[in-house]
Amino acid sequence: MSQVIYSFNFIDMATIFTKIIQKEIPAGRGLVYEDDQIMAFYDIHPIAPVHILIIPKKEIASINDLEDADQALIGKMVLVARNIARDLNISEKGYKLLFRVGEYGGQEVSHIHLHLIGGARLHEDIRPV
Ligand code: 5GP
Repeated sequence: MSQVIYSFNFIDMATIFTKIIQKEIPAGRGLVYEDDQIMAFYDIHPIAPVHILIIPKKEIASINDLEDADQALIGKMVLVARNIARDLNISEKGYKLLFRVGEYGGQEVSHIHLHLIGGARLHEDIRPV
C-alpha cells in the first residue's frame, strides 16, 4: 500500500529537475556541485555571467512546502551557494540569491531551487508589475 502511495506522489511531484537528479537528462553545462542531498548546475537560460541553480534532491515543491525538519537542508543550500560563489571568485563583488515562490513570485519549476546570480552588476528592480 505504501508503495502505491509513494509512486503516486512521485509522479505527481516529478519535474524536469527530477530527471536531472536521476541523471536521465544532463544538467545543462554540467554539474557544479553534488552530494547525497544537494545538486548545483548551470541554468539553461542564464540571465547573468554566473547563473547557477542549487536544488535539494528531496522533492519539495516550493518554500511553502518546507517542513521544520528541512531546516538543515535549506541552510545547507545557502552554504553551498556561498561556496560556489567563493570558488567562482564572485564573492567580493557580490551576487544575488533568489527563491521564487508560486505564481506571483514567478516560480516556473515546482521543485525548490535557489538561484545564484552574479558575475556582473545586477538590476535592482524587484518591484511589482
Ligand atoms: P524559476 O522561474 O522556477 O525560479 O526558475 C526555473 C529555472 O530553471 C529557470 O531559470 C530556467 O531557465 C531553468 N531551467 C528550466 N529547465 C531547465 C533544464 O532543463 N535545465 C537547466 N539547467 N535549467 C532549467
